[in-house]
Amino acid sequence: MERTDIKSLNIEELESYIENLGDKKFRAKQIFDWFHVKLVSHIDDMTNLSKNLRQQLKDDCQVTSLKILRKQENKAKDTIKYLFELHDKRVIESVFMRYKHGNSVCISSQVGCRMGCKFCASAIGGLERNLIPSEMLDQIYQIQKDLGERVSNVVVMGTGEPLDNYDNLIRFIELITSDKGQNMSGRNITVSTCGLVDKIYKLADEKLQITLAISLHASNDELRKQTMPIANRYSISEILEACKYYFNTTGRRITFEYSLISGVNDQEEYAHELAGKIKSLNSHVNLIPINPIKERDFKHSTSSQVSKFKNILEKYGINVTIRREMGSDIDAACGQLRKSYVDETTRQG
Ligand code: SAH
Repeated sequence: MERTDIKSLNIEELESYIENLGDKKFRAKQIFDWFHVKLVSHIDDMTNLSKNLRQQLKDDCQVTSLKILRKQENKAKDTIKYLFELHDKRVIESVFMRYKHGNSVCISSQVGCRMGCKFCASAIGGLERNLIPSEMLDQIYQIQKDLGERVSNVVVMGTGEPLDNYDNLIRFIELITSDKGQNMSGRNITVSTCGLVDKIYKLADEKLQITLAISLHASNDELRKQTMPIANRYSISEILEACKYYFNTTGRRITFEYSLISGVNDQEEYAHELAGKIKSLNSHVNLIPINPIKERDFKHSTSSQVSKFKNILEKYGINVTIRREMGSDIDAACGQLRKSYVDETTRQG
């Protein structure tokens, strides 16, 4: 029989679960508090529960707890990359980033990814499995415990396509924003997608206050198809329609991500083309100089090319930021640490 993934239950589910075990409903709030406020990983540490209930929980539940395999800090000491081991020995990575406005963690949503973007290290081995909500939460919980610091922002931009793991993502957001748990504001959560259009509509209808980031990386479909296989399924105009719906339904401004690859998508004509398509949308563009991965021959754009691209977009009245490259000295870009770890351990047999 499959064990109950107790850390992924919301309060209502936990209440009926506890009642089914023959105990009092109010125990659910205590257990929720242990997991999601006190960040405890062992049932035995829940000292206000009876010995009997603790034993029942240990017999019936699976308690997710990620093990820190490796930790790497960059020279500037504002970025720490974590490699975690899951209960089935698979590995995932998360990145802690210290900003003036608070601490942020970039979490993974899947082990591997099946979207196949050519510039992305996470795509190389394909999808291994989805992460369950407790495994997404625990990336944040373990980092908070390890550093003794509070995390105020979460970006779902690590390995995986979050909208390809939709139900688990939604539960994760419900739990991290719960006022009986971490009580994180939805506004402090960003979900990044390569643009699964049907799921963008569905997400809009959840009416969450999260920020949606779209990985566009191209100004027309032909160009997009060169690096992103998903472009064969959904066109840019379909994505932009969905973005309009998202904004109209939630009132939240969309972020477009554009990773600049030298000579591929960073030419000035593309900046004009992009601007023409998004200028009427209430959006923000994040330019990211591509982080070269050793498996591909992509080079990042020069800083003068990045500035040119930015200036053109700004002339159209578009809000643009250039993403600071934090932690590129520690393989911090999208799946690179995990990839180098997996390569290394396979070499060692
Ligand atoms: N699957 C989601 C989220 C994961 S990737 C998505 O596609 O949005 C987070 C962002 O980093 C995406 O915009 C992705 O396209 C980008 N990215 C991936 N590999 C990169 C690399 N090597 N250099 C720069 N950006 C990269």
